[in-house]
Amino acid sequence: MPAYLRPASQSEALAALAQGRLTVLAGGTDYYPARVGTPLADDILDISAIAALRGIREDADHWRIGATTNWSELIAAALPPLFDGLKLAAGEIGGVQIQNAGTIGGNLCNASPAADGVPPLLALDARVEIADTAGSTSVALADFILGNRKTLLRPDQLLTAILIPKPAHSARSHFAKLGAREYLVVSIVMVAATLEIEAGRVRAARIAVGACSPVARRLPLAEAALIGQTCDASLGAHARPEHLSPLAPIDDVRASGEYRRDAALTLARRVLNHLGAQA
Ligand SMILES: Cc1cc2nc3c(=O)[nH]c(=O)nc-3n(C[C@H](O)[C@H](O)[C@H](O)COP(=O)(O)OP(=O)(O)OC[C@H]3O[C@@H](n4cnc5c(N)ncnc54)[C@H](O)[C@@H]3O)c2cc1C
Repeated sequence: MPAYLRPASQSEALAALAQGRLTVLAGGTDYYPARVGTPLADDILDISAIAALRGIREDADHWRIGATTNWSELIAAALPPLFDGLKLAAGEIGGVQIQNAGTIGGNLCNASPAADGVPPLLALDARVEIADTAGSTSVALADFILGNRKTLLRPDQLLTAILIPKPAHSARSHFAKLGAREYLVVSIVMVAATLEIEAGRVRAARIAVGACSPVARRLPLAEAALIGQTCDASLGAHARPEHLSPLAPIDDVRASGEYRRDAALTLARRVLNHLGAQA
């Protein structure tokens, strides 16, 4: 009979993880669908009762989003325009039932190339906090996801929070997702961008594209091309096809690689035009 543990404290959870191979369960919206038709034999560590892992807090130099904060809680949270892109992504994750159960930490730990939470968090320069019985540390999200379904988490570790640094200038973000239909769909491409703006000009830009490589990627050349540009509704014209060089889109049932590349540029321009027009 498999074990099912549901501790109320993070320290109990970490002690249990250190003792043996337990499978972490948060909202279960990735875990259970991946096991349809197979007996559930894993020993489970359900982290949903650990209050310290849930909720959003503003600290002096960053925001801290607890790993088991679900997408609906994120959408409902009072957050500055910096988080608009992440909230838009949250609203496109499955339907409301999935958003009520699925967590931000689960989306990152599952490490799907089509995870909608990853591009907006890359565009927010997010770090992830990782804990084990020896203590906690943080790493850049870009270094945390190693490949398709691979992260650097060890079996005795939990992802405990996502940390978003406060930008130096006034900042806002945006997100766009392309699927085969409007809702309840796996992304063909998604693009997120954050712009830091001062006196009507771009001071810093972060653009990330998902579903066009095993791990969502930033576009450093496009980001550099935007610095100093005037913000208006044609800002997207500064994104060029050659800026997509970090991407390696594949042909699959949802789209060809060529279509994905074209759509990535179109979405990046739309997202930037939107942000430019709002500044
Ligand atoms: C119908 C449906 C539609 C969906 N639509 C979308 C969509 O549009 N976009 C999208 O991105 N996703 C979608 N998903 C996938 C899923 O809902 C999200 O990825 C969700 O955020 C996963 O969170 P969870 O808490 O349910 O993860 P779980 O299923 O609980 O866990 C996922 C994985 O992460 C591990 N894990 C979870 N939390 C931690 C932690 N804190 N520390 C260490 N390991 C942890 C688990 O062991 C497991 O391997 C959909 C799923 C369904 C069923």
